[in-house]
Amino acid sequence: MILPIVGYGHPTLRKTASPITQDYPDLKELVANMFETMYNADGVGLAAPQVDLPIRLFVVGFRPYDEKTNTYGDPTEEYTVINPEIVSFGEQKDWFNEGCLSVPDIHEDVLRPTTLRMRWQDENWQQHDEEITGLFARVAQHEIDHLDGKVFTDRLSSLRRTMLKRRLNDIQLGRIQTKYRMKPNKR
Ligand code: ZN
Repeated sequence: MILPIVGYGHPTLRKTASPITQDYPDLKELVANMFETMYNADGVGLAAPQVDLPIRLFVVGFRPYDEKTNTYGDPTEEYTVINPEIVSFGEQKDWFNEGCLSVPDIHEDVLRPTTLRMRWQDENWQQHDEEITGLFARVAQHEIDHLDGKVFTDRLSSLRRTMLKRRLNDIQLGRIQTKYRMKPNKR
């Protein structure tokens, strides 16, 4: 089932999300719905607060894109990340052009560490403690920000944020068009 996504300015995106335990109701179904919602919106990551649930859970999935047919193939990598904890960061950082399903049509370069050590539990409650790198490391940091009540535009320079102010305000007021369903912000 495709879930509506909340946009910039929604109060749930500003909450610190809570850890969950194994008795969290219907978790398998929620995870399946989050993957479906993410792929439907052409995303590579989706955090639970983006579907209005302030819990420490996110999903990540990478699918090959075929430019000839404009279609996606089956996912090559998928991660369900529960209760993540960043243990440490690598020393190297780089810039990457980020976007967010909750901040439609805005893409900005963000500087982040290229590697990190992360502890988390997966959908079967298996514990992981791994050094992660590449696109997973980038997306994981973006999603953990969501669990801490941050969005990627918070990490931009104040000049950049000032320049984006009107567009962010439009998103906040629901004056945007998306090909996926968004939940209106409470007023
Ligand atoms: Zn995001």
